[in-house]
Amino acid sequence: MRVVLLGAPGAGKGTIANLLSEHDGSVQISTGDILRAAVNEGTELGKEAKEYMGRGDLVPDSLIMSMMEARLQAEDCEKGLILDGFPRTIPQAEELKKLLERLGIALDLVVNLDVPKEVILDRLTTRRTCSNPDCQAIYNIKSNPPTEDGRCKICGSPAIQRDDETEEAIMNRLDTYNEKTAPLISFYQQEGLLKSILSLKSQETVEKIKAALQT
Ligand SMILES: [Zn+2]
Repeated sequence: MRVVLLGAPGAGKGTIANLLSEHDGSVQISTGDILRAAVNEGTELGKEAKEYMGRGDLVPDSLIMSMMEARLQAEDCEKGLILDGFPRTIPQAEELKKLLERLGIALDLVVNLDVPKEVILDRLTTRRTCSNPDCQAIYNIKSNPPTEDGRCKICGSPAIQRDDETEEAIMNRLDTYNEKTAPLISFYQQEGLLKSILSLKSQETVEKIKAALQT
């Protein structure tokens, strides 16, 4: 499959991408993973990206696109690819369209994971993350709580609420998403590629995506 997954923070893009990838071996591609890999491997693009990150600046789109171009030409992409959280903006979507055309890759589907705001808020504000950087186990105070005194069950470090997972921070992230990324929904609608799926349970969503790919 050649799929783009769109969805707000907390919509479960990573989880769905992972399940889809297990299904048929399509590779899950996110800009975060590409950046980390390029930096770790010390490629020329990675070194360039590291300079921006070291200054606390955003890595520019042109650099992201060059990394994406290299990634999409890797052999493992022949089985299929799932773009998880990329593109994020209309300019990126336009660049991606040109890039895919140049590489002769046709997208099958762009899936918009539609998750009600209350569900996202509930999912993210109940999340707790182990504060030990080598562990980072994830808990949920409702469905998978840490110990009674709020510690990680694996390493015993405090399980904390991340700064970007407080209610206020999530509302901000959702606003940014609505401003920058939600316009992609109409972009891909015009391209005739969009399928919106009400996504509450990962496994059901994966079945719906598989079904949409077969039609
Ligand atoms: Zn831990």
